Amino acid sequence: MRPIRPGDRGPAVTEIRRVLAGLDLLVPSAPDSDEFDAHTERAVRAFQQSRGLSVDGRVGTETWRALDAARWRLGARTLYHSVPEPLTGEDIRSLQERLLEMGYDVGRADAIYGVRTARALAQFQREVGLIPDGTCGPHTLNSLRRLGRKVVGGRPQWLRESDAIRQSGPTLVGRTVVIDPGHGGSDPGMTVPEGDLCWTEADLVHDLASRLEGRLAAAGVRVQLTRGPAQRDHLPDVDRADLANSLGADVFISLHFDGHANPAAEGVATYHYGTDNGVTSATGERLAGLVQREIVARTGLRDCRSHAKAWDLLRLTRMPAVRVEVGYLTSPTDRARLVDPRFRDRVVEAIVAAVQRMYYPIERDVPTGSIDVSQLRAVVAAGTVVD
Ligand SMILES: [Zn+2]
Repeated sequence: MRPIRPGDRGPAVTEIRRVLAGLDLLVPSAPDSDEFDAHTERAVRAFQQSRGLSVDGRVGTETWRALDAARWRLGARTLYHSVPEPLTGEDIRSLQERLLEMGYDVGRADAIYGVRTARALAQFQREVGLIPDGTCGPHTLNSLRRLGRKVVGGRPQWLRESDAIRQSGPTLVGRTVVIDPGHGGSDPGMTVPEGDLCWTEADLVHDLASRLEGRLAAAGVRVQLTRGPAQRDHLPDVDRADLANSLGADVFISLHFDGHANPAAEGVATYHYGTDNGVTSATGERLAGLVQREIVARTGLRDCRSHAKAWDLLRLTRMPAVRVEVGYLTSPTDRARLVDPRFRDRVVEAIVAAVQRMYYPIERDVPTGSIDVSQLRAVVAAGTVVD
């Protein structure tokens, strides 16, 4: 088709202006105007920008198709996975964004109802007790809307998680913890030469993970690492999350060191799942806060606080999951400590104390830095004699 451009008049222009006004991109001074004026052009450009189209202020085939898809509002029709020609539209984008916010894996919110979206919706349906057919009709939409108002904690599964943790008691014995040393194999992570040495993040975090494994195992925890010391191929985050899910892990801890061009950047930060809109995994957030506070209290690393991130690793894991950036390998101050095995042991004690505190009921929680991790071992050792 010949692009509709500034200066054009006609019913097609009226239609374009109507869709743009519906998207709040155009304030309709004259609602029924059929003139492609400067305001319309500006709105078309904004629309193109927001949809990742080439921004030329004209409505060609591609922009027309995107405008057409933009007409649909969630709830106006039933959504399902149709082959070979999938449904597309703004309503699908809204649905995908809602599912993403709640932690379901729809991939990118691309406004196309593909197999991944159908699968994510089916998972949501299963978790709220609906028939998991991957079709978004009025019942499913009602559940989505009801949860949308009530649930700030993200997926229904996360709310059940908090309950399960509260009811499972304080013991660590028999729990499964997956420890994920970041990077590995062909991906060394952060590398910092120093004299004849070259420190690599992958090696150091693997050592840290092994120490943590030892401590947790001594407390009766089943521990699994996501990779060996020299795993040949780099394991993508999606596979690391899959591994933890398939083991039915209770806790997932990913270990990294940070790095920055500025050597003055230093400190520890902990991340849990969450989005910009304030949707967050409540249990992940609690674990991140505990890990962060215990490490700061026990090591004196600068407190760069805990933060919400929508990274695959945190989004796809179905248990409280955190990623800890334990100091900057590029900071001479942090590095001197991180390369010291005794310092790494203190980090490990802090993480064990945090995991233990997560299982204490909030009203019985103890002050940061007060758990004696070696004591924990003694108590458990006494308990395991029964076996
Ligand atoms: Zn890293």
